[in-house]
Order: sequence, then structure tokens, then C-alpha cells
Amino acid sequence: MDKTKITVLGGGISGLATAYWLDRAGYSVTVLEANSEPGGSMNTRREHGFLVDYGANSGLDTTPEIGQLVKEAGLKDDWVYADLSGNRRYILKHHRLYALPTQPLAFIKTQLFSTRAKLRLLAEPFIGRSEDGYYQSISQFVTRRLGREFLDYAVNPFVAGVFAGNPENLSVKSAFPKLYHLEEAYGGLIKGLIKGAKERRKRAETSKQSARMFSFKDGMQALPKAIAARLGETVKVNCRVEKVKKSESSYQVLYDQNGQSGQVDPDIIVSAIPAYNAANVFAELDDRLCTHLNQIYYPPVKVLFLGYKKAAIGRALDGFGFLIPEKEKKTFLGAIWSSTIFPGRSRDDTEAFTLFVGGARSPELVENEEGSLNAAVIREFQKIMRIDERPLFIKERIWPQSIPQYQLGYIEHERYFEQFEENHPGIFLSGNYRGGISVSDCIKNSHLNYLRVVEYAMTL
Ligand SMILES: Cc1cc2nc3c(=O)[nH]c(=O)nc-3n(C[C@H](O)[C@H](O)[C@H](O)COP(=O)(O)OP(=O)(O)OC[C@H]3O[C@@H](n4cnc5c(N)ncnc54)[C@H](O)[C@@H]3O)c2cc1C
Repeated sequence: MDKTKITVLGGGISGLATAYWLDRAGYSVTVLEANSEPGGSMNTRREHGFLVDYGANSGLDTTPEIGQLVKEAGLKDDWVYADLSGNRRYILKHHRLYALPTQPLAFIKTQLFSTRAKLRLLAEPFIGRSEDGYYQSISQFVTRRLGREFLDYAVNPFVAGVFAGNPENLSVKSAFPKLYHLEEAYGGLIKGLIKGAKERRKRAETSKQSARMFSFKDGMQALPKAIAARLGETVKVNCRVEKVKKSESSYQVLYDQNGQSGQVDPDIIVSAIPAYNAANVFAELDDRLCTHLNQIYYPPVKVLFLGYKKAAIGRALDGFGFLIPEKEKKTFLGAIWSSTIFPGRSRDDTEAFTLFVGGARSPELVENEEGSLNAAVIREFQKIMRIDERPLFIKERIWPQSIPQYQLGYIEHERYFEQFEENHPGIFLSGNYRGGISVSDCIKNSHLNYLRVVEYAMTL
């Protein structure tokens, strides 16, 4: 095969997965990664007997490409699924934790929602379709279909848990396309959930609600590290891409590796770096692209990892953790009971928890942090969990720009990305600001991008 040269910008899961499939198909691939190690938002450390995931904590096994990638990366034996109790998620309401009901009987019995809110749900199948989900916020959509209480005590905390986001600002169609599709295609969420299951079976896909949650014995970063190891010298670390320029025949990628300038002249570029970095890299090629990319908001998030003696925990750890609705006015968004979900996260006599602070709900807490924030968060957490001893172990990481927010009107960005790709044949824009932010969406989209690249390469 003619060795078409492909340069992938960014060694997070999006860049590495695409690079892996292209390399396997016989193309000459180079990955340029600014950090000293691959992984991006999948970042794990083993410290003092704890396994700390500072970024993504788990993935959902929604699509066959994930299993294929895990096996081919040599991680089949290290792949761990969450304990089934991980399906139980708690929501904080008036200082108490209530399990979020997932079955009709549990929904009828739960005290999380009032009788009025439960009766309101019965009206859902009779509410008509709405117009233009791109300009409709999640909160407008959910309030109209399911009522205000459902927004406040189910969707608001859920959106904080997934996007570190705020349902008032996110576009329902861009951020949760499958949810909007249920209304668009079937006329309602309840009808759609029942009928949509058949469609997914045909595509061999699993819904996010029923997909199994996974990680690896050595944490989430194990996957990008294993892919990078398979790719070998193809992956260049400490290599920051500075500019992409047009050349006579195709493109030039200018980079800095350990203080030394370098250049590659690929036939094809796959950009899998965050939007705010891509804005600088492509500035010379297209001003408007740069404006669109810079408009994408990435709120700051602080991840606080806490380790305690097992005996200090005053309540049963029988779930995934808990999420906090904005109405409850706490300093943090929620907590994952890390050592309950996956094995090997802490020593046998300890428990590990991962807390999230800030996000689009309260960015100022992280931006204007004064020394007392951790103490306030830990105090509130311990009260909810009935813990009256200090943590044995505290670690934190701040992500100044954490997760892209698919806000109202995001479609304008998405349309321009398509236009840019048409105007610049051979450049493909990828990464978690297109098509979904979860690790599983990133892998699925990387596979689609790989197919798009192959299709284009055949025309060269
Ligand atoms: C705190 C946090 C918790 C999360 N939790 C979960 C979770 O539990 N489950 C889940 O499914 N998802 C979670 N996510 C989201 C998910 O981890 C990310 O969306 C996904 O990993 C993004 O992958 P990516 O490759 O698209 O981008 P990134 O991981 O951001 O990778 C981009 C890479 O590009 C590199 N780069 C940037 N600029 C340049 C440049 N100029 N030159 C070269 N390289 C460059 C960066 O160093 C980085 O390695 C979480 C995210 C965060 C931040």
C-alpha cells in the first residue's frame, strides 16, 4: 500500500484510538503529544496504596469498538467491570441520600420525588414534540416534558456529574442527542425508551443506562498508555504542536519537542487536541474557525481524592456514590465511592472517594480559590457520609479547562467545523468537543473518524 502520511495532533484517547486503527490499516502515522505521557483527561497515579484517577473514573461499554480496542491493546485481562451495586446512584436531598429509582416500583415508592412530581410524569406521553432542540436548553426540555422537580432532583445533578455542566446553558440536542431523538422520533421519552431499545439491538449497541461500567486494574490511563505502547515510536511525547500551515502540496505541522523546533509534512492531519489549543494551532489557516473554537467554554473543575480508614465510614457504601442538586447549595458537585466500584483502589483497611468541585455550576469556587475550600468540602462530605475522623490521604488536581460545554447554539460551531473540513481537504477535527464527551463516545467517534480518513486517503 502507498504509505500515506498521517499526523495526529494530541495523544488523548481520541487521538490514540484513531492513530491505532490507521496504523493497523497500514498508514504511516505519527502522534504528537504535548505532555510527557499519553492520556490527556485519562490520568491515573498510584500513591500510598491508593489508585487515584484524577480525570475520567470509568467508561461505559456502549459499543463493540471499545471491547475490540481493549483486546487489541492487550488489556483484556486487566479490564474490570464495576460492582453491580455501582448501578445505584444516590441524590442528596435535605441532608439525606436517596437512591435514584431505576425501576417503576422503586419510582412509585421513592421519597426523592413528591407524589405530585410522580403524577406529573404520567402526562409525559401526551406532551407533543418541541421545535429546534439546538436552541432549547436541557432545563427547558426536561421541565416541559417531565416537570420542574425532575429537573431539580434528577437532571440537574446528573448534568453536573457528566458534563460538570449546568442544564440551563446546555443545548439538549447537542449535549444529549439521544434524549432529544426519543422525542423527535417517537414523540416522547417513555414511548421512545421502549421502542428505541429495538433499534439499538439492531446496531449491536447498548444504551448508556444499561451499559456496564468499566475501568482497568491500573485505572483509566491504562488504556491510552497501552495503545501508545503498541504504537511505539510513532507517538512523540513532550511535543507541542504550534502551527499548521498550508504548503504547496498539502500541510506543514510545526512543533516544539523538548525545546527543539521540528516540522512534518503529512498528507492528512487529524486534530484531537482541545478546542482552545486547536484555535491557536489553526489560527493562520482560518480565522473564523479560531473564533468558533475559542467560544467553546471549558469550566474549571477541582478533583479532590480522599482516603479514610474503613472503620471511619458511618454509612453503607452500597452504590456508585452521590450527586448533589444545585438547590441543596453545597460546595461540591458530588462524590464517587471509588473503592466500592472497582477493586484495588485502596488497601483492604481503607476506602477511597473522589469528589468534584466547581464546573459550570460554580466555577468561581475554583477560580478564586482561597485556602479554605478543601476544608469546607471535606466538612460537608463527612457530614453526609457520617464520618468523624480526618482523611488519611488527600490529593487534588485542578483542571483549569475541564470538559467542553455543548451550550445553546453549539450547532453553529458544529456546522462550521464541517465547513472548515470541506474547505481544507485532508484536515479532520476530532476530540471530545465533537460528538460527545464521554470516553465511550470519544472511542466510537475515533472509529468513525478513522473510516472517514481512510475514505479520503483512497482519493489521494
Ligand atoms: C475531571 C474529569 C473527569 C471525567 N470523568 C469522566 C468519566 O468518569 N467517564 C467518562 O466517560 N468521561 C469522563 N471525562 C471526560 C473524558 O475523560 C474526556 O472527554 C476524554 O478523555 C477526552 O479525550 P480526548 O482525547 O478527546 O481529549 P484529551 O484527553 O483532552 O486529550 C487531548 C490531548 O491533546 C494534547 N494537546 C493539547 N494541545 C496540544 C498541542 N498543541 N500539541 C500536542 N498535543 C496537545 C493534550 O496534552 C492531551 O493529551 C472526564 C473528564 C475530566 C476532565
